Amino acid sequence: MTDTTTLERTAESATTILDHWVDGSAWTGESERTGPVFNPAQGRVQKEVRLASAADVDSAVAVATGAWTQWRDTSIAKRQAVLFNFRELLNQRKDELAAILTAEHGKVLSDALGEIARGMEVVEFACGLGHLTKGAYSENVSTGIDVYTLRQPLGVVGIISPFNFPAMVPLWFFSVALAAGNAVLLKPSEKDPTAANWMAELLKEAGLPDGVLNVVHGDKEAVDRLLEHPDVRAISFVGSTPIAKYVYENATRNGKRVQALGGAKNHMLVLPDADLDLAADAAVNAGFGSAGERCMAISVVLAVDTIADELVEKISQRMGTLRIGDGTRGCDMGPLITGQHRDKVASYIDVAAQDGASVVVDGRGVEADGDPDGFWLGPTLIDKVPTSSSVYQDEIFGPVLSIVRVEGYEGGLDIINSSPYGNGTAIFTNDGGAARRFQREATVGMIGINVPIPVPVAYHSFGGWKASLFGDAKAYGPHGFEFFTAEKAVTSRWLDPSHGGLNLGFPQHD
Ligand code: NAD
Repeated sequence: MTDTTTLERTAESATTILDHWVDGSAWTGESERTGPVFNPAQGRVQKEVRLASAADVDSAVAVATGAWTQWRDTSIAKRQAVLFNFRELLNQRKDELAAILTAEHGKVLSDALGEIARGMEVVEFACGLGHLTKGAYSENVSTGIDVYTLRQPLGVVGIISPFNFPAMVPLWFFSVALAAGNAVLLKPSEKDPTAANWMAELLKEAGLPDGVLNVVHGDKEAVDRLLEHPDVRAISFVGSTPIAKYVYENATRNGKRVQALGGAKNHMLVLPDADLDLAADAAVNAGFGSAGERCMAISVVLAVDTIADELVEKISQRMGTLRIGDGTRGCDMGPLITGQHRDKVASYIDVAAQDGASVVVDGRGVEADGDPDGFWLGPTLIDKVPTSSSVYQDEIFGPVLSIVRVEGYEGGLDIINSSPYGNGTAIFTNDGGAARRFQREATVGMIGINVPIPVPVAYHSFGGWKASLFGDAKAYGPHGFEFFTAEKAVTSRWLDPSHGGLNLGFPQHD
């Protein structure tokens, strides 16, 4: 499987164009709009991606609707076999996918492989669909009457994913949606779209019937049509908070089931009794991994005054050892996704100085091991950030780590609980009592105790609170199967002549 099966070259411009993937093959659709896909480490456009019209979305939904009736009736054993095959193929060919992620997103190869591993974990979990779609049975609830529940697929479901995990986030959702017997229309980020086609093609090789998983590329026009299309039963969205809210409000207004995961500002509270070396390693790994473009990145360290100077020193020492550059060259951190995003992130460094914070490490002008035109910004550390500053308040989504100094546990907790976001948070301490209070008192969906990026394993569910998740279903795990199935309760009685007769009262038990 190579790019050439999903890409075509246009005669006029010789620009590579990534097509949609519909009904088991590359598909151009009717829209002539395209968008640029950069190689962020080179700062150059490497291909264009098609941007679907509303009519293109309609065509793909019609294909998915047709394919669903067959997939819905495919046995659990056969669906399971497709997922097992997919898992095996993905594992064998993960290096190909990692190379695509690095070329379009910019994250370093080792991090790209980590993303794939965490996505593959959800495929493995979804292979247990036999257990996860089981209903319940109550015998003889009334004389001769049994009640049982069935979990049935919804139909065609839409998945809209962000740029920062072009493989893992689609895997979170489509693995479970397909396992549960749904057909899928995936609308990946237009910034790094190729991974979605690659995985769709691999699913075909694994035995998924054509049309059951379709990839439609696009922007707001495609998303808006998905949100209103009457045959799309559910929407799973991951992206920034304003768009998550927009998606949630519009799709629910149209009667759809929606899970919309939004942005984040994740705090790490370091208490005086913590192992400061462990805490400093964790802050650097979680602050600058994937250039800070992770929804579970640590962007604020809440350092208790008595250890703050020492912790800042340890963090900045470690930052000096990081190698920034092209993700294919064994570096620690790659570029940002676009030049525009890099400039916006860098602009916060001036804001920090204006707001009275102290810039300890300035990532501008970093010497990167890569093309000078790459979208580089080095790791940046800003101390004494006031919580009134936009550096503290905004989701910067880049390699900028803020230190906010606090008097103690209570002050740190107050700041965490006052944040509009509630995705992840962590406490670093050797005091079990403090850790236990923290897990109970923090108003955040995912808590780490001496673990900076507490992304739950696939058999738990992933999701934040407050402005980090709209809707009540988290991603994957038990929530995932609940989200992608509808429960039906059956009350059954097999004929028994003793139960005949007319009775217009509300059914009661005997
Ligand atoms: P984004 O909100 O810009 O885009 C997400 C998706 O929405 C993309 O597919 C995009 O095409 C679409 N979109 C963008 N603008 C739209 C509009 N006006 N109308 C309709 N659709 C639109 O997010 P992004 O920049 O791709 O990703 C980064 C964001 O995602 C960050 O805020 C990050 O925290 C968040 N994120 C959250 C999680 C989580 O689990 N909570 C995980 C990963 C990323």
